[in-house]
Amino acid sequence: MLEAIVGTLGLVIGSFLNVCIYRIPRGESIIFPSSHCPNCGKRIRWFDLIPVLSFIILKGKCRYCKSPISPLYPVVEMVCCFLAIASIKVFGMSISAFLLFVIGCVLLYISVVDFKTYEMSVGNLLLLAILKLAFEVSIKGIAKTTIIYILLGPILNTFLVGLIYIISRGIAMGLGDVLLLMAGGIGFSVRQAIVCNFVAFFVAFLYVLGLKFVQSILKGNEKKREIPFGPFISIGIFVSTVAGERIADLYYQLIIVR
Ligand SMILES: [Zn+2]
Repeated sequence: MLEAIVGTLGLVIGSFLNVCIYRIPRGESIIFPSSHCPNCGKRIRWFDLIPVLSFIILKGKCRYCKSPISPLYPVVEMVCCFLAIASIKVFGMSISAFLLFVIGCVLLYISVVDFKTYEMSVGNLLLLAILKLAFEVSIKGIAKTTIIYILLGPILNTFLVGLIYIISRGIAMGLGDVLLLMAGGIGFSVRQAIVCNFVAFFVAFLYVLGLKFVQSILKGNEKKREIPFGPFISIGIFVSTVAGERIADLYYQLIIVR
């Protein structure tokens, strides 16, 4: 029952996050005007704004002008729903769960904006850093959250990508990627940093493979576009924050022969 309530709340917050993702990078207000179709400008009625369901009922098209609606909208709503349920599953009804959910939402926002525009704002990265710090304090207590502890995670987490950034002179990796790893790495142990980087590169690898497969079917009609790394780093940060230590344990159990 609790999962259903929290999941529904996640969907609604995801719907609001969509508004933020669309409007904030354009410098528009997130309150006024009410939702409207970007193609025909018609106001979208409340019954067409139900998360995920409306997209399915409208078959991904505007009710009035039939222009396509980006599938990113229901995807963001569903990811937000998942983040909400995962947060309370791991930490119960607590401040830590709430902070983890907000961190997930900020990572989701950064990912989708990076995917669409290849840009990351310093303000969002700073917000992530503050939330990550608050999350660590909520779990380990203020006494254990020392300066060395705060600095170590970001250094460990940035090591590999920072090196790639310097060697490739900012071509293979952007400064935004480095800063994202830094902000998200606050509180990470060595093991968590390794898991975070591994997950990011592994999911990116799977994505590139999938993309190549789809393009071979479509016979390369798709426009070639650069692949932003921010979404994959975000997945790595979230997975490692939730389960980095457990994944490392599992790895040792599987690989190391005792
Ligand atoms: Zn329209």
